[in-house]
Amino acid sequence: MSDRSFEIGPIRPPSEASSLLLQVTRGCTWNKCRFCTVYRDSRFQVIQPEEIKKNIDNMAYFRDLLMSCAKADGTIDKGALYGYLEKFTQEELQCFYMIYNWLTHGGRSVFLQDGNSIALKPEKLADVLVYLREKFPHIERVTTYGRAETLSHWSEDQWKLLRQSGLDRIHSGFESGSDNVLRMINKGLTQEQQIDGGRKVKAAGIELSVYFMPGIGGTEFEQENAEQTAYVVNRIDPDFVRLRTFVLKLDSEMYLMKQRGEFEELTDIGKLREIRALVEGIERPDVTVVSDHIVNLVGSLNHPIREKKEMLRRIDEVLSLPEKEQKRYQLARRHGIVEEYSHMASIPQRRLDHFDEVASQYPDREGWEAYLNGILRQYV
Ligand code: SF4
Repeated sequence: MSDRSFEIGPIRPPSEASSLLLQVTRGCTWNKCRFCTVYRDSRFQVIQPEEIKKNIDNMAYFRDLLMSCAKADGTIDKGALYGYLEKFTQEELQCFYMIYNWLTHGGRSVFLQDGNSIALKPEKLADVLVYLREKFPHIERVTTYGRAETLSHWSEDQWKLLRQSGLDRIHSGFESGSDNVLRMINKGLTQEQQIDGGRKVKAAGIELSVYFMPGIGGTEFEQENAEQTAYVVNRIDPDFVRLRTFVLKLDSEMYLMKQRGEFEELTDIGKLREIRALVEGIERPDVTVVSDHIVNLVGSLNHPIREKKEMLRRIDEVLSLPEKEQKRYQLARRHGIVEEYSHMASIPQRRLDHFDEVASQYPDREGWEAYLNGILRQYV
């Protein structure tokens, strides 16, 4: 890496698409979940605060350079800017454009990477947060990923320190609240740790966004997966529950489990039934359910639980469709054309005829599910 560039890690939640990405750890502390392949070939590493601060300095360098090219009317002096850009390496250009895009989107939020950044000791992370906010005083929100096991590990005082230092939100992949499912997917944590960790984060005043995977328990734990997750959510009262419907990756350990007959997948519609059970089971009115990924069969479910009636109506609309119409909807949704059933009215008849033709090629359930999964795998 050149002296002016900074590292950019592989993943961030979709809600952090406009955030500046600051890497404070590399990889994942656990790296053994049977469905996950993100960090398979990388080793977990903590980046020391001195190195992170140097990266923050480099981010500030690109910000200052861009500001130095701003004219009095707010536009950019392109000649001056290109003069700098042509001297940059490819790596530096990538860093510059990250800062440029971030600032043109308001430059308000930062996401700390990678998979479990709160593994960095709270005292060290607090030091980094304070430095980041000093260098970029206009930042309004700093968020990061954190495993429930680590959330539970730190004390209430350490969480308060992180809050005071400027950490605003934790995204945590709970996947399921069921201990049976957590064991099956080798998540390396328990329901008790989820509740304990989640409560500590909330008590410190940090927003909590937890992720649920409809279908991750397969047919064996159908409904238990959703019901136990609702149980956990009701005990924590997180700010958001984000849906990430399970899609079996062909290079994952769970695919091998399926081949050995140890895991049977739920159908696309079965996974939607689990979303329904979760929404129905959550009793905390202020928890917002977020369906912000195309893998979810109904997309427009971004409401607080106090509006659960409307969310259930949209789900039931799809669940109660006759088979032919349901398959049309599944295809339209899996191709990203619609978010909910009411959007089907805008699809031209010839497109619907095409969907019918496609569906007729997969008359048996297995073939149909395999076809849908093939589409879904392009999104994960
Ligand atoms: S904790 Fe998250 S990043 Fe780590 S292996 Fe599990 S799913 Fe993947």
